[in-house]
Amino acid sequence: MKNMKRYAALIIMTIITFTAASLFFAFVLKEFAPVPVFIFFCTVQCTGFVLFALLPEKFRTIPRHASKIIIGMMLLVIAGVLGRQNFQIEGFVYLLFAGFVGGPVIHFGMKIIGSLVTGRSWCSWGCWTAAVLDFLPYNRNTKWKRGSLKYLRYVHLALSIGIVSVTYFVLRHVMQSTNPDQTINWQESASAVYWVVAGNGFYYLSGIILAFVMKDNRAFCKYLCPVAVLLKAGSIFALTRVDSIKTKCSGCKKCESVCPASIKVHSYTESGRRVASTECLICLNCIAVCPDKNLYLSVGFEPAVKEKLNIG
Ligand code: SF4
Ligand code: SF4
Ligand code: SF4
Repeated sequence: MKNMKRYAALIIMTIITFTAASLFFAFVLKEFAPVPVFIFFCTVQCTGFVLFALLPEKFRTIPRHASKIIIGMMLLVIAGVLGRQNFQIEGFVYLLFAGFVGGPVIHFGMKIIGSLVTGRSWCSWGCWTAAVLDFLPYNRNTKWKRGSLKYLRYVHLALSIGIVSVTYFVLRHVMQSTNPDQTINWQESASAVYWVVAGNGFYYLSGIILAFVMKDNRAFCKYLCPVAVLLKAGSIFALTRVDSIKTKCSGCKKCESVCPASIKVHSYTESGRRVASTECLICLNCIAVCPDKNLYLSVGFEPAVKEKLNIG
């Protein structure tokens, strides 16, 4: 139980985030439909955090995989494919242009606002792309590549927005709904299903190829994912971060060896700073492996101004 204290900040901040969102929808927007979903996702994630803290080392990754699979598949398969909603970034942008607050807008809104509170926890505990990538064989610290590859995900985001802009504003393309009364709504649209399947097919295929070519499960996240750009922006100001007790650190760098985002965790901690990196995926690996129990999660305001990454 003592171990739980090191993770308590993340659990509390996750509960606060989902509770605030539920209250906002229920009492401000008078919209109750998302509330059970928020409660369910919050329960899944927090159960995952608790089990991660309590389970022995060899079982520790199971709750993290389970959280991603349950949340990811609910959104991708049930809400996305069966519910005919495009939860890809293009679906979000399309609905913004159309001025329609549907599932994809709520989903991205929660991800972006959530990144201000709990950083990129979505990337370790909810993302359906990572739910597959994390089962590939290269799950250890793999150095970042030098050069212009790091700009690719920004180009990808610009292309995604560009494609939707052209189809919406130039081609005046309106996704045809299966419901004849709905023509503007990309929700419940047969076209949305094609987009979700094709878009995710591209993500999975390119993610798997990149992982094997670069020997890095998270190469897609590092170089190609357009969503990462939005989450990085929010996590510049993330309140919840990995923190350390500087006097206890032996300098063994085990924390760095298990970091999927290849962050110089020790460099942050030895300079007395929290791990204020927009690349931190809140996977909690570093906290779990630290032999001196030196690392924990804390809440505070320390913007990520300078990234300290292991670059090859
Ligand atoms: S960077 Fe993109 S693909 Fe990777 S976990 Fe985050 S949202 Fe998912
Ligand atoms: S694993 Fe712990 S003790 Fe070792 S360098 Fe990292 S913070 Fe210090
Ligand atoms: S710094 Fe720690 S919590 Fe963040 S990604 Fe690296 S190992 Fe995971």
